[in-house]
Amino acid sequence: MQAKINFNAGPAALPPEVLHEAAKAVNKYKKTGFSILELSHRGPEFAEILEESKHLVKKLCKLDDSYEVLWLHGGGRQQFFMVPMNFLPQEGAAGYIESGHWAEEARQYAAFYGDAQTLASSKKSNYTRLPDWPAKIPAKLAYVHITTNNTIYGTQLGQIPEVKPPLIADMSSDIFSRQHDYSKYALFYAAAQKNLGIAGVALAVVRKDMLKRIVREMPPMLSYAAQVKEESNLNTANVFGIYVSLLMLRWIDARGIPAIEKENKLKAKLVYDAIDSSKVFVPYVTEKADRSMMNVCFTAKTPEAEKRLLTLCEEHDIAGIKGHRLAGGFRVSLYNAISTEWVEQLVTLIKSIT
Ligand code: PMP
Repeated sequence: MQAKINFNAGPAALPPEVLHEAAKAVNKYKKTGFSILELSHRGPEFAEILEESKHLVKKLCKLDDSYEVLWLHGGGRQQFFMVPMNFLPQEGAAGYIESGHWAEEARQYAAFYGDAQTLASSKKSNYTRLPDWPAKIPAKLAYVHITTNNTIYGTQLGQIPEVKPPLIADMSSDIFSRQHDYSKYALFYAAAQKNLGIAGVALAVVRKDMLKRIVREMPPMLSYAAQVKEESNLNTANVFGIYVSLLMLRWIDARGIPAIEKENKLKAKLVYDAIDSSKVFVPYVTEKADRSMMNVCFTAKTPEAEKRLLTLCEEHDIAGIKGHRLAGGFRVSLYNAISTEWVEQLVTLIKSIT
């Protein structure tokens, strides 16, 4: 069991059941007689892990066989450059909705390969609100890239508008956290270490027709088509990381996404209500419709209040509430594995500071 309450933004808390199963597998994986850390990526046991994980991703996303599920290396950032490397022609243009630091970085990475245009940005507001959706998005763009949840300042897209170009989403910090129409996307991806497992693995789900749109030659490791052909096992796959993601997928599937969404909404409401009614803490995101259910960010009005909350958390074995280095203040990450009970304990401390 976990000793400490952990609100880290990623790597983040994993459910105790998942940790328990993962630890068991590190000791001995099923009937193999050895640890999962020693398991061949070419053997039948790992083939089963891959198969079940792909099946569960499609089930949870309600996607049919027109999509391919990939487990890749390189975390979120590798997708920042794999996407343009595959789909942005040197003479073409792609559009980016800059709703936060990671969205901006994704656009910067894309600029190495072609014209990466900012379609909308809320940088001037320090990303504390979502940018207004652009009035017109040119149909000829190679793709439009969005970030569904902005981990650093705590905003999240609600309804995703229809766009003509293929829509690509970074869902690193809110995948499987709410009911969502995944069929809107030509491709979506997520670094696993927040809602879906541990660092070192990224999930990418790509619509098959996109594989015909790949615009340049590249080393196979970075080609979605080559990775699909080799079934995420082109080089030595991250066997343990993918297994932990499978355990997370089973855990999510057992609860069901509607129930997870309900609890996530409740957890976020508890923290936002405490901050909104506080005389000493101020939320970053004042526009309620823009607020993230996953990362609640706020500051203290005085250094004393800031110090008091940090001290209280330390005394009560609560870790991980310091804000990102770019934002300062506090950030409480409320991914799927965080229990309402943990959140209630934190909220009691927040409310005690007046
Ligand atoms: N996208 C988002 C939304 C993120 O929050 C992060 C990391 N916190 C990344 C991408 C980058 O992920 P990685 O560190 O795995 O490259």
